[in-house]
Amino acid sequence: MTRTDLLIKDIDYLVTCDKEWNIFQNAALAVTDGKIVYVGSNEEIIEIFRAKETISLKGHILMPGLVNCHVHSPMSIFRGIADDMPLQKWLHEVIFPVESRWINRETVYVGAMLSIIEMVLSGTTTFCDGYFFEEEVASAALSCGMRAIVGQGVLDFPTPDNPEPKNFLKRAETFLNNFPSNDLVKPSVFCHAPYTCSSETMKITKEFCSYYNIIFQIHLAETKQEVKQIKDRYGMNPGELLQELGLLDDKTLCVHAVWLEDKELDIIKEHSATLVHCVESNLKLASGIAPVPKWMSKGITFGLGTDGPSSNNDLNLLGELTTVALVHKGINKDPTVCKAEDVLKLATIQGARSLGLEESIGSLEVGKDADLIALDITKPHATPIYDPVSHIVYSAKASDVKHVWIRGCQVVQNRRILSFDVESLLNEVKGLSNQIKKSLSKD
Ligand SMILES: [Zn+2]
Repeated sequence: MTRTDLLIKDIDYLVTCDKEWNIFQNAALAVTDGKIVYVGSNEEIIEIFRAKETISLKGHILMPGLVNCHVHSPMSIFRGIADDMPLQKWLHEVIFPVESRWINRETVYVGAMLSIIEMVLSGTTTFCDGYFFEEEVASAALSCGMRAIVGQGVLDFPTPDNPEPKNFLKRAETFLNNFPSNDLVKPSVFCHAPYTCSSETMKITKEFCSYYNIIFQIHLAETKQEVKQIKDRYGMNPGELLQELGLLDDKTLCVHAVWLEDKELDIIKEHSATLVHCVESNLKLASGIAPVPKWMSKGITFGLGTDGPSSNNDLNLLGELTTVALVHKGINKDPTVCKAEDVLKLATIQGARSLGLEESIGSLEVGKDADLIALDITKPHATPIYDPVSHIVYSAKASDVKHVWIRGCQVVQNRRILSFDVESLLNEVKGLSNQIKKSLSKD
């Protein structure tokens, strides 16, 4: 008998998302010191392990926690503040002004906490963030036991946490120097976009990221207008510009990439840079739809992102899976593109790969961290199940997520967040949004 911390048994379907795409029925999984030590049959496990805690998951799918590769988590306090507008008008007339007035350390922390609750309750266990005062996002993630990569924002104009743009590097250094030492939350830098950052700013930021071996995030080719702006300014496409400046390698995460042309996609592939597909945000802001089947056929590594809660307007990655699978079938008039299995990979193992975390998360395999979610499959919309992967992508709801573990530590039990009082946080956000509403009606 081997001693273990946690034994999860009687699982109807264990969807591993591993290389062989193993799916076990009537299965079990064991966890010791936050790591998976066994994945397999139910009968065998009872003979091998003696556990401190044993849980029966009859009526559930157990699968890897989802990976959201692009979020601006503090923006949840602006959810629904302005809808139905094009990106540039939305940014310059609404978002940038409310950010300059309302974003500070406290509001960033509260917004990040709200987003983390929403994400974890809809099955996300890892997110990659980019915003201001990201120390606060790191501390929100740590207090919830959430896995994250948090990117300090860089722009060439005054921001809430850096009123003097030329000090952007100092700001990033302070962020890194004060970063709490831990294994779950990692630092990064988020250069907003080639149209808001000069070539010099982007180059210096990338050099800084390379020196510290951290991820360089950037919005890229989100709208047609932005591509034209870059072509007019630099005489080349955005992907070519990034190559020219030496910004592309396997630690560069390019978000959106809606309008990258074939030659730019080849450049991305050649440099092993990674992309993030944010289909619902791109639909809502009418930015366009990225040619995802082409990304797949070129073998580009990419994950999925919800983008900020102000342009989506939720952080439900399970819902995003359905949208990705449906939209690309519709616009390509081809039901064979973006198969359920391919789409689920994007939110698990491929998402982990895009963030450089494949060694520790993204699939349920012995030796990996136990980032797990259990979906309730006892409801009418989950009956019957012929194929659990089809169910996850096409039918599962965020509200089916019943239990969540991050590195073996249970953070959600029976849909209840264990580490803190959700009710008081929701009241705090309501109080803050009332103040924001009042200030808007006065303007
Ligand atoms: Zn974004």
